[in-house]
Amino acid sequence: MSFDSLGLAEPLLRAVREQGYTSPTPIQAQAIPAVLSGGDLLAGAQTGTGKTAGFTLPMLQRLSAKPAVRDARGRLPIRALILTPTRELAAQVEESVRTYGKHTSLSSMVMFGGVGMQPQIDKLKRGVDILVATPGRLLDHAQQRTLDLSHIEIFVLDEADRMLDMGFVHDIKKVLALVPAKKQSLLFSATFSDEIKNLADRLLNKPALIEVARRNQTAELIEQKVHPVGREMKKDLLVHLIKSNDWHQVLVFTRMKHGANRLVEHLLKQDVTAMAIHGNKSQSARTKALADFKSGDLRVLVATDIAARGIDIDQLPHVVNFELPNVPEDYVHRIGRTGRAGSPGEAVSLVCVDEDGFLRDIEKLIKREIRKEVVAGFAPHPGERPEPIVLGRMVIGAGAGRGGHRHVAGGGRGGHGGHGSGGGGAHSGHGRNDGRSHEPRAAQPAARPAGPRPEPRRDGGRPPARLTQPKR
Ligand code: AMP
Repeated sequence: MSFDSLGLAEPLLRAVREQGYTSPTPIQAQAIPAVLSGGDLLAGAQTGTGKTAGFTLPMLQRLSAKPAVRDARGRLPIRALILTPTRELAAQVEESVRTYGKHTSLSSMVMFGGVGMQPQIDKLKRGVDILVATPGRLLDHAQQRTLDLSHIEIFVLDEADRMLDMGFVHDIKKVLALVPAKKQSLLFSATFSDEIKNLADRLLNKPALIEVARRNQTAELIEQKVHPVGREMKKDLLVHLIKSNDWHQVLVFTRMKHGANRLVEHLLKQDVTAMAIHGNKSQSARTKALADFKSGDLRVLVATDIAARGIDIDQLPHVVNFELPNVPEDYVHRIGRTGRAGSPGEAVSLVCVDEDGFLRDIEKLIKREIRKEVVAGFAPHPGERPEPIVLGRMVIGAGAGRGGHRHVAGGGRGGHGGHGSGGGGAHSGHGRNDGRSHEPRAAQPAARPAGPRPEPRRDGGRPPARLTQPKR
């Protein structure tokens, strides 16, 4: 199939061609005509499927087709609003809006917290057609009356499940109260919990339903490998892999922020350019790290799971789990950052004896054994004994994942699911987050005695509920 048959106008097709896309992805093939028709849309698709172009292209076309009418103060009204859960995603979506809209006269802006309000106010005053925002800062502006959402014609909720995970449900409801009732609404979510279905019920009017393959169903494009390694040799093995394979654009995951920092220091000492991206970094440091990584100036980006949410980088060739996640679903998330939109990728995990339990949990979740390959010179010492893994104030028993023995020491805070790393983690639904506290999650699920998870978590490895027509 080609883009030409989807009903897009030439300025948009030109931008698509310039991006080098030859055919639409499945979500684009379905979403573009649906959105062009003007109806609401409920789409089951996650990052990596091409969903951003799926809603951006038809949105640009619909807005271009109808010239903006200036408001009472002579300003161009904001006609489209895209809400995203994280700053990084907001920035990337707005970049896509600019990329795909470069041959149109539409203007856009991104709005998120952690940076000054005034430049955003100035930009709003100059007038924008399309606003991409995280909910917290959007509501700050609305409260200060520096933002008028009463002319919104198209409203997009991107990664709605993550938004709910991050505690934005009340903020979303507040935003909905600020936009006109009559509008075109598009909701994108990787999974469909009852909460999402409730939101869809509230927001959407007879939506078209689209569901495309989950990322972990397309995992055959991702070559997965485990390198069993001695605990103290991980850093050197990583350097060895990067240098001997001449890897560039390597996304490396650690469980904790300080682990990310230490690893960056080591890589820099070995002349491998690297930066860490996590919640303790300023917004400008995170933006710079991401930009340098994308441009190829930075060879390695080290991220914690929460900080990596929403990062979208074109066809990332290598993802390395420097440490396995204690939550097995995070493994699926991490490796999904490679091999996207049809290009192959490689996901490598450096696993020491302490993490055997985590590995078992992951293999159980993905229902396959991951190939093990010892790298000569880096094999674990035969006598190496598992040691407990320390995650903030939690300690997970030696070599244990959920499948094994574990114990919790030092303030596991049991019942509440334990924000044990002492850092207001972004995982549960308490108040506004706005991407402000990108903390690695504490070991809350693993720290519980074996049994059901304390709270459902985003898309992970759970099979998504099938889409059903929302009741009206
Ligand atoms: P998304 O799911 O929107 O985050 O997009 C995932 C990646 O796929 C982005 O980096 C896009 O640049 C890329 N992409 C989007 N559409 C296409 C397409 N039709 N062909 C090839 N790559 C695409």
